[in-house]
Amino acid sequence: MAENHIQNSAGDTTRIPAVASATREFLQQAHKLLINGRWVDGAAGETLETRDPASGAILARVAIGDATDIDLAVRAAREAFNGPWSRLTHFERARLLSRLARLIEANTDLFTEIEVLDNGMPVGISRLTIDNIAEMFDYYAGAAQRIEGTTTSPPRHVSAQAEALTYTLREPVGVAGLIVPWNVPISTAVLKLAPALAAGCTVVVKPSEETPLSILLLGRLVAEAGFPPGVVNIVNGFGASAGSALARHSDVDKVSFTGSTATGRKVIEAAIGNLKKLSLELGGKSPVVVMPDADLQLAVPGVAMATFFLQGQNCMAGTRIFVHASIYDSLVAGLKAFAEGMVIGHGLDPATHIGPLISAAHCEKVMGYIARGIEEGATLVTGGQRIAGPGNFVQPTIFGDCRPDMAVVREEIFGPVMAIQRFDTDDLDAIAAMANDTDYGLSGSVWTRDLSTAHALVARIRAGHVSVNCHGAVGTNIPFGGYGQSGWGREFGQEGLDAYLETKAVTVQL
Ligand code: NDP
Repeated sequence: MAENHIQNSAGDTTRIPAVASATREFLQQAHKLLINGRWVDGAAGETLETRDPASGAILARVAIGDATDIDLAVRAAREAFNGPWSRLTHFERARLLSRLARLIEANTDLFTEIEVLDNGMPVGISRLTIDNIAEMFDYYAGAAQRIEGTTTSPPRHVSAQAEALTYTLREPVGVAGLIVPWNVPISTAVLKLAPALAAGCTVVVKPSEETPLSILLLGRLVAEAGFPPGVVNIVNGFGASAGSALARHSDVDKVSFTGSTATGRKVIEAAIGNLKKLSLELGGKSPVVVMPDADLQLAVPGVAMATFFLQGQNCMAGTRIFVHASIYDSLVAGLKAFAEGMVIGHGLDPATHIGPLISAAHCEKVMGYIARGIEEGATLVTGGQRIAGPGNFVQPTIFGDCRPDMAVVREEIFGPVMAIQRFDTDDLDAIAAMANDTDYGLSGSVWTRDLSTAHALVARIRAGHVSVNCHGAVGTNIPFGGYGQSGWGREFGQEGLDAYLETKAVTVQL
């Protein structure tokens, strides 16, 4: 690929793939914290380099905040909540959200390239996520205009004495802390931010320190769209300091967190102090059930991408594959050929199917699981190697002949590792019991040509989102969230907005 040399905000000259001049200019600017409408350094003056995971090149130096900065951001959010933001009508808020959607559309190429450079995802996926965030702001602009209460009968002890009226109001929860991981950074930030703003909340966003750039870019557009200062605050920082301070803060009314189940537990503990409301979108180890009558033309690429989409760094990844014995050999052969045909490379190369993992440390973690799979006796069908050279690349890896007790079957690896188990029964309860043998319950899919089998299995699978003959078919209007240890609550759709609203019941004696 062609390359550019840039003098980045870390002060180094670095080589990155050829990108548009707007992308180079953005990288070269200072990247600070957004607090009360101003770009500021962190109180402790700390900064951190963010790198291209495909090459290791330093992209930018970013200000890092801690508990002091979180406190300032929460105060700004509270002031904006009590002041200008709550005085706007639903229609005025909707107009600002729509304006932001148009600004995102005008900067699609810039967002797309920044997200690929910072996260590593293939460029086609990045572009889809950017189109989708504009759609989310539009969707919730519409939803903001339809926030409505109801009228109902007044209680008898009041209406017995006089005429009375009872109605409900939907009101914003207040100040919301939004804690975002690195795997689909801008998308995950916006699926929280858009409904929070539509509801009338003000927010403090804590990006992952691995991938802050696209969220900082969004921060610039928030100001340009005309949001009052303090409505959106962005504090980069480490989870253990900034993230934990946000989850713990006594003046934060709600936290929405996406990340690992282990960190989700820490967020719950931190939230206990003021019993703040929580939405948690946590880990997954989703089942993919391939029945004997499945259309293999559809199932081979579909099952492969259920695991390998985003290099497997995807909470809804289908990584536990259950295949009927009668089609096991042909499906596994198809999956092997598909995986071996995947192009591994820099996300900005349009030919790339598999980009890098987020960091060298994460690569080590994934390689550790691959070693355990081999130790525990799974058959390595293909892959299993880390690719030498710069960047954090791991081959798409398939294990066959897996048992339910193996680590590659039980634990969320968050990498391109598929674990296949064989079954030899037509008993749908038995098949569902295998699929449900997990602590998680985020997603799943069923592959069959038979409508009755499809619906009967969907009804038996314990997960918040189940697809038939496709996997992970999420969308802005479709509620998404987990059963079991995959989380609390739903994001997207009307339920995604409800998560930022309180209901107040009012009775008036006339
Ligand atoms: P984490 O769950 O630790 O991080 C998610 C977000 O929470 C990040 O912004 C992180 O900040 C922040 N955070 C970390 N610790 C705390 C805390 N004590 N209080 C509040 N916020 C905190 O995920 P990791 O990035 O460490 O990834 C580890 C594993 O988690 C992955 O290998 C994968 O298995 C899983 N994961 C699952 C995701 C999902 O969508 N289900 C998404 C990401 C990861 P910072 O990044 O600065 O530490």
